[in-house]
Amino acid sequence: MNPSHDCRELLQAQLLGRNATDAARDDPLRPLLASLLAGRSMNQGVLSATLGLPQADFHDLWRDYFPGDALQLHNGPGEDIAELDDLLQLLLEYRAGVRASEVWAAHIVATSCCGRNHLWQDLGLANRGELSLLMGAVFPTLAALNSGDMKWKKFIYRHYCTREGIYVCPAPSCGECADYAKCFAKEE
Ligand code: SF4
Repeated sequence: MNPSHDCRELLQAQLLGRNATDAARDDPLRPLLASLLAGRSMNQGVLSATLGLPQADFHDLWRDYFPGDALQLHNGPGEDIAELDDLLQLLLEYRAGVRASEVWAAHIVATSCCGRNHLWQDLGLANRGELSLLMGAVFPTLAALNSGDMKWKKFIYRHYCTREGIYVCPAPSCGECADYAKCFAKEE
């Protein structure tokens, strides 16, 4: 039995048991937001106490998605990165365009790219599968481009750099690259 895992599941279940608005309850991002909040409350990942969101957006998130007592959240060790606005812009361009919460997700993912670990860990999610769900639900066309299942942070940066014409890879194709394991090995 893993106490940290149990604690996260309990917190997540408590949050999901709250009376969200109808629109929030229908949002596939809601369970993932609950996991992000549970992770932050356990001081996992790098996000701030508002998950990297402006205070007003975080207030709206609580009000519509998890109304009730706020969790005790502390700021993680995240830091500003020069490319934050560019990453945010890229993610916003690929958002599904179905729900306003996609803008929150873009902020949250872009902000977490400052971390030193796998992106799902820097987000404070429970596992990589949750990040893959988030990417598929919020940025479906971008996620579909990751057909080789590259590590998510590597994939986002590679896409960003390729688009900007920045040559970042030591080989013309992944199959013949000495760094293959760095980009495609399991994110655990
Ligand atoms: S495996 Fe090599 S070529 Fe492929 S994305 Fe990684 S660094 Fe670039």
